Amino acid sequence: MTNLLLKETRQRHDFTVFCRIMMNQPKKIAVIGGGIVGSTTAFYLSQTDTDVTLYDEETGQATSAAAGIICPWLSQRRNQKWYRLAAGGAAFYPTLMKDIGEGLQYSVIYRQVGTLVFKKTPKLLDKLEKIVQKRRIDAPMIGELAVLSPEDIQEKMPLLETRNPALFASGGAKVDGAQLTQTLKEKAQQNGVVFHKKKVSLHVESMDESPYIINDGTRQERFDAVVLAVGAWLPKLLEPLGYAVDIRPQKGQLVELQLDAETDVWPVVMPDGEMDIIPFAGGKIIVGATHENDKGYDLEPTKEQLQLMLQEANKLVPELEKATITRTRVGTRAYTSDFAPFFGEVPHAPRLYAASGLGASGLTSGPLIARMLTQLIKGEQTDLPLENYPINDYIQKSNSSS
Ligand SMILES: Cc1cc2nc3c(=O)[nH]c(=O)nc-3n(C[C@H](O)[C@H](O)[C@H](O)COP(=O)(O)OP(=O)(O)OC[C@H]3O[C@@H](n4cnc5c(N)ncnc54)[C@H](O)[C@@H]3O)c2cc1C
Repeated sequence: MTNLLLKETRQRHDFTVFCRIMMNQPKKIAVIGGGIVGSTTAFYLSQTDTDVTLYDEETGQATSAAAGIICPWLSQRRNQKWYRLAAGGAAFYPTLMKDIGEGLQYSVIYRQVGTLVFKKTPKLLDKLEKIVQKRRIDAPMIGELAVLSPEDIQEKMPLLETRNPALFASGGAKVDGAQLTQTLKEKAQQNGVVFHKKKVSLHVESMDESPYIINDGTRQERFDAVVLAVGAWLPKLLEPLGYAVDIRPQKGQLVELQLDAETDVWPVVMPDGEMDIIPFAGGKIIVGATHENDKGYDLEPTKEQLQLMLQEANKLVPELEKATITRTRVGTRAYTSDFAPFFGEVPHAPRLYAASGLGASGLTSGPLIARMLTQLIKGEQTDLPLENYPINDYIQKSNSSS
């Protein structure tokens, strides 16, 4: 056979295999990364006729470090595609809770306790109220919306001392990211998902029917589809395969405190600035978080940064000075250069899916992104148009290595 003929035969074979890959639904899928995106994807895939394996190193995970605020409607970010994703994500939470068998009323994982937002001036607060009133037409979940006086605020959160009004939205919620992913993983495992707490690498054997090989350092396994839900670590997995990935890490730190008070139904407090106060059940209070762009993947807590946030929090809730610091948490957020998240099929790699760039609102948008990844894998229409979150803008093949 001449070289040319040999090449054509190979190309025809490759094309046949490629068509088979595209037409059949995958039977064996690996999910790499067990934060909010990976564990929700594994959970929804576990309800399909597919063998699912979940790998998660767990180190640096943003989800388990996160503060837990679910309230995108009070953000003044103008990007409409981001807003639709985040608002859709917030609206999806009650469905997710139902799907994992959690009640909405008294759950320690997710609870709508309302959000209080402060602004520098009453004029800015009025402006925000008008924006949110308009949003409420399409987002009834925002619930009751009102500018509260300092006295009204104290009724909702007795230890908060302020002379300023705040905007209150009763639909604002708090979620415990670590507990949520733990529950999702447990439910997925009950449905047959195999879980490995391992760091893995990905290799591709082009045009094979199960082209993806995952290596955990001791053994390797083949899969016909892979979901990369590795947050800020996406470049580390894709760059060895010849891709350029527009993702950078951002360090986030926060403090966990224990207060002797009935905190269960206290609202989330968002003062003007970086620091927020998120009360959880049983006296647990979260104060955070930092947004550090120059620390790479560093996971060391820094006393000065945490002290600054505590000082800010103490001004609003002086009682916090008496609280015990029980933990500090550090995680790594993933950002794209235009701050927009993306998800979908990696270019030139059929059935290799990825989601990243969820930034500071990924606990809010993550579950919906995971459901859409599952819809994509099943060949169903996604809840939101994929072209609004174009993966090709952030992941490009830079050379031919694989
Ligand atoms: C301090 C802080 C506060 C935040 N507060 C909020 C908030 O209040 N509200 C909100 O909506 N969002 C918040 N966020 C953002 C949100 O937490 C993230 O956007 C979201 O959790 C990202 O989820 P993810 O699944 O994409 O990534 P991650 O949660 O980071 O998960 C990625 C996982 O992949 C694993 N991994 C990476 N590489 C490999 C590998 N090679 N092999 C195996 N496993 C691997 C990692 O160990 C990690 O467990 C906060 C984030 C931080 C850090």
